[in-house]
Amino acid sequence: MTGPLGPVYRSIDALVAHAQAHLGLDADDAVWARNQVFALYGLDSYGADDADADVAPAGAPGDVDRLVGAFLDAAETAGLIGPGERGSRTDAVMGALSPRPSWVRRRFAETERADGGMAAMRWLYDTCVADTYVKRAQLEANPRFDSHGLTVTINLAKPEFRTQAKAAAGNSVSGGYPKCTICLENEGFAGRDKRTLRTVPVTLGGQEWFWQFSPYGYFDQHGICVNDEHTPMHVDRATFGRLLDFVDRFPGYFLGCNAALPRIGGSVLAHDHYQGGGEILPMAKASARTTLSVPGTPGATVEILDWPGTALRVVSPQREAIVDVCDAIRVAWESYDDPAAGIASHDADGNRQSAVSPTVIRTSRGYEMGLILRNNAVSDDCPEGVFHAHPEYWPIKQEPIGLIEAQGLFILPGRLVGELGRIEDALAQGAGLPEDMGEFRLVWDELTDALDGVRDRDAISAAVRDELGSVCRRILGNTAVFKDGGQTLSFLEGLGFAVA
Ligand SMILES: [Zn+2]
Repeated sequence: MTGPLGPVYRSIDALVAHAQAHLGLDADDAVWARNQVFALYGLDSYGADDADADVAPAGAPGDVDRLVGAFLDAAETAGLIGPGERGSRTDAVMGALSPRPSWVRRRFAETERADGGMAAMRWLYDTCVADTYVKRAQLEANPRFDSHGLTVTINLAKPEFRTQAKAAAGNSVSGGYPKCTICLENEGFAGRDKRTLRTVPVTLGGQEWFWQFSPYGYFDQHGICVNDEHTPMHVDRATFGRLLDFVDRFPGYFLGCNAALPRIGGSVLAHDHYQGGGEILPMAKASARTTLSVPGTPGATVEILDWPGTALRVVSPQREAIVDVCDAIRVAWESYDDPAAGIASHDADGNRQSAVSPTVIRTSRGYEMGLILRNNAVSDDCPEGVFHAHPEYWPIKQEPIGLIEAQGLFILPGRLVGELGRIEDALAQGAGLPEDMGEFRLVWDELTDALDGVRDRDAISAAVRDELGSVCRRILGNTAVFKDGGQTLSFLEGLGFAVA
């Protein structure tokens, strides 16, 4: 076949070879699978020349981006797809070449039995990269650096939701099926381009939940654990046990839960879920400013973390101790009031506005459960929240600060690449702040102070990274409900804990 369809057929052959190498496609199913893809485009002229064409041996799971790209280019040239259809066509073609959920779950269970939970997760992640559900190349393209004890990333793929109303709208689904974007019924659902989504079951606290990797993850092996039932988010005593169940089975991951309040994380509040994955976030490495013992619970400690937000760490090798101590802190915080500090556990209408965000890892000390205290009070000066990012920082980050950012991994909006680029250009030229960028005045003034006339490009870039880390750290400081360690200590001593 020498016509325009030749490259299309060869690119499909390469994808079929990729599916055999990385997606469990049986050799006996290869012709059948190829025909499934042909059916999507009414292709019926595959000939001997096409079959004889060299198909490069399959490479790594992530090579799928190059292979799919070659297919889309060829299909566009041949007029099979129009411009603007690449995303949905990728999902359609890879959906036809991806294994059924039952096979994924069997293989996951076999890998876990043979090599443990972490090896099974690694295998599942590679599979989800290979079927294009996880956009690994986009994750790797995001700028990322460490600054001021935090990790800062700029997410080029994620749309920015500058208000909670927009975040909620982005997570809702019209039509009622599936009920929301994270419901189990999304597995294979073409209506949201989720033909390649694959999940595995996990049992948490005796309930049926499932795990899935996030398509636009913020870090390595980022995923969510979701209740099989579409039931609202909540944090209670049982939450701690569920988180422990997960890290018992997958000890190299962290798992945490956003405070179940609006404006705290851009999360889907309508459906109970946790977030976790394969990176230990900066807060987990924070040192203890003060350590307290727990009367009656030997071996358990509570640490006040050296951290800009208000964060505690409950440490014990014993599950029961973790659950008891964490729940005591949760219950106390949810009804804690301190008018002088602006902390009101309930608003004027009696709605709860205090909550904890728990997050757990396993270490040589046992379980380490981080507890981030959050409060949703508003004031005239801070209508979006007193303990949220304050308006002067909104040009950098206006979205709610959720579980991942509260732990020190910031996800900044992609627009900043262009905006900061213009600021860097102006600094290098010795010009002023561009007229249409007035909202960046604070950042600009701090940068010109720091640079003191230096116009070297590398120095400017370093100063911008430093400024971003500094702003993110101040935003975490905004979210702190106790502005100094003494207040945190008084709160904990009120619970009967004693400085060790
Ligand atoms: Zn749902």
